[in-house]
Formats: sequence, structure tokens, C-alpha cells
Amino acid sequence: MKILVISDIHANLTALETVIADAGDFDATWCLGDLVGYGPDPNECIERVRELPDLLCIIGNHDAATLKQIDPDSFNPEARTAIYWTQKIISDKGLMFLRGLPEKIELDRVTLTHGSPRHPVWEYLLDTRTASQNFEFFYTPFCMVGHTHLPVIYYLEGEHLSINLHVPIPNQSITLPNRAIINPGSVGQPRDHDPRAAYGIYDTDTDTWDYRRVEYDIPFVQEHMRRLNLPDRHIYRLSAGW
Ligand code: ZN
Repeated sequence: MKILVISDIHANLTALETVIADAGDFDATWCLGDLVGYGPDPNECIERVRELPDLLCIIGNHDAATLKQIDPDSFNPEARTAIYWTQKIISDKGLMFLRGLPEKIELDRVTLTHGSPRHPVWEYLLDTRTASQNFEFFYTPFCMVGHTHLPVIYYLEGEHLSINLHVPIPNQSITLPNRAIINPGSVGQPRDHDPRAAYGIYDTDTDTWDYRRVEYDIPFVQEHMRRLNLPDRHIYRLSAGW
């Protein structure tokens, strides 16, 4: 079975549509949170994600802030502005969908969470030390996370409990190691200085991880954000990829 794995769409419908079109055939969808925040199309992104085949979706910190479950003061000023804006325009249907999202989903072989298995909504897995502590907090071979907007695979090396970090090469597939934490990167706001939308296709039969990047119409999204008076910083960063 082929699973489309997406995360951190951040209300960027243009990037999301491009990813879906680029993904080709897939049987199911795993969405790792942060459907909204930063971008111009929160309602449209929620609607589009809901239509995806066999969807499993978890909540991200921006989704929780939109629901007022997290204090917007814990975000930087521009992110906060985008959250207040999202709260104003989000539909009741959108709110209801976000409200139903769990923090963590444990499947037979994969755990899904936004930040980390230890602190699902908030923790950033940015280094091998934090990742190694988190290997004790999930019981499946794999854990898939988002939140940092950085595509990466943390994996256990051999018999030892040393954790390694692998930055995957775009548009190449690899066979996953025995135990790993995998981040597909961000659909709507990549932060690894590559502005292309990021996602992955996980083949459950072969444990293959096909990590992909795809160009989308960034100037179109930026123009849309300008018209809505969204913060300049969020407009600029899309083309810079941070
Ligand atoms: Zn995010």
C-alpha cells in the first residue's frame, strides 16, 4: 500500500494541490498536522485534506492555537498575527474538523504525531540528542513527525543505541532502517532553504520511503497573501525557503 505523507501545509492550497497532483496514485493519506497558520487558504486546505483517500490526520500546534487550546502569546508576533487572522476567517466546519483531531495515532508499525512522540504538539526534533530521548516514547518500528519543517530521518545504528541523522536526497527513495523517526518536511512552508514543497510516499509493503520535492507557483501565493495583508515576513520566506 502506498501512503501519501504530508505535514505542515500551513494554509497553502497551491502547494497542497501541486503535491497531490505530483504524488500520482496512492491508497491512503497521513497528515501530520498544522493544516492552518501562516498561509492564505485555511478553509480550502482543510476541505481538500478531508477529501483525500483513507485519511488519518493529527493536530499541530497552529491548529491547536486556532482552536484557542494554546495561548497565541506562545508564538512569535507574526505567527500570532496569522493565528488571529485564521481564527477570524475559519469556518465552523473547519473548526469542527480541527477539534476532532488527535495528538497521536499508533498504527501497527507506525506512530504519527506532529512534534515528537514524547510531547506530540510542541517538541521540536532538531538534533540527534533530542531524537534519541524520543525513541523510548514510541513502540512501533517507525514514527512520523512534522513541526520543524525540515526533512530528516533519525535512525538507530546496528545493535547500538546511537542515533544517526540522515538528510534524504530529494526525489530518491530509500529502504527504511529497522527503527526510525521520519519527517517528510513541509508542504506549505519549507525551512531548509529549498522553497519547493516537500512530502513523502511510504510503501508499507517494502518499507520504502520516497522523499519528494516539487516546485509550485510561489509568486501566486505571495500575491494572494499580500492582498490579504498577511505579514511580509511570511510572504518573503516562501521564496527563500526558511
Ligand atoms: Zn508547522
